[in-house]
Amino acid sequence: MRIKCPYCQSKTIVTHHEEVDKRVSYVYVTCTNHDCHARSKIRISYAGTLTPPVSDLTAAMHEWFANLPEAEQKAIAKTYQPALF
Ligand SMILES: [Zn+2]
Repeated sequence: MRIKCPYCQSKTIVTHHEEVDKRVSYVYVTCTNHDCHARSKIRISYAGTLTPPVSDLTAAMHEWFANLPEAEQKAIAKTYQPALF
């Protein structure tokens, strides 16, 4: 990820960062354009989950499976483990 200078859109260099909490950080950047050389504080924040952690997906799948009628559970199990039937 490249952070551009908000004044001249040139490349910046991250000088340090500060974690505000688990979902928000401030990144301090210096513009590499010698005619600008602005220093800026950029906020980076968590915007949402696109795919939850695998552990959450596995737990959700087990819960969904456990709540299916027994006939549907058997049909699914038969699909994935036909040798048992
Ligand atoms: Zn700049």
